[in-house]
Amino acid sequence: MALLKEWRDKAYSETANKGDLQRLWTEYFQKEKDVYAQLLKNPDEVVKGTVKELADKFGLDIMTMTGFLDGINDSLKEPNPIDDMTEDTEVNLGFDKELLYKNMVNAGADWLYGLEEWNDIFDEDKRKALYKEEKASHTVRKENKVYPNDPCPCGSGKKYKKCHGKNA
Ligand SMILES: [Zn+2]
Repeated sequence: MALLKEWRDKAYSETANKGDLQRLWTEYFQKEKDVYAQLLKNPDEVVKGTVKELADKFGLDIMTMTGFLDGINDSLKEPNPIDDMTEDTEVNLGFDKELLYKNMVNAGADWLYGLEEWNDIFDEDKRKALYKEEKASHTVRKENKVYPNDPCPCGSGKKYKKCHGKNA
C-alpha cells in the first residue's frame, strides 16, 4: 500500500478506537512541532533525502514522517509526489516561508506559527501582516485534529479544550 494512503487510513479512520486515535494525534503534534522548530532554525536550507533518510534524521517512524510530508506539502516550493511515494522516494522540505506561516495560521496552530524560531525570520510587523492576510482570505484548508481532552499541542500541559481549543 502507498504510504500516504496507509497514513490517512490510520490517522483519519472513522472506525478506529478513539483513544488510539487521540494518542496518535497527540504524539504526532508534539513530533511535528519539534521538526518545524528544527527546520525553522535554518529556513533557507533545503533538507533533502529519501523518506526513510528524513525519518531517521528527525527521529520519526515512517508513518509520522509520512504525516509530516502530507502536512507540509502545500507549503513547499516544489511539492513532493506524496500520493505514491515509498520509503525510497526522494523528497525535499524546501518550504516557502510566507506560505508556511500562513498555512500554520490557517490551521489554527498557534503553537506552530507562535514558535520562537519565526521571530528571527520575520519581524513582528511582518508576522502580523501575514496573519491578517491569511485570516482575511477565509479559507479553511485543514480540519484541526486535536480532541478536546487531549493535552494541548502547544505543550502547556493543559487539556486542549481548556487551552487553545477553547474557541474551537
Ligand atoms: Zn495550548
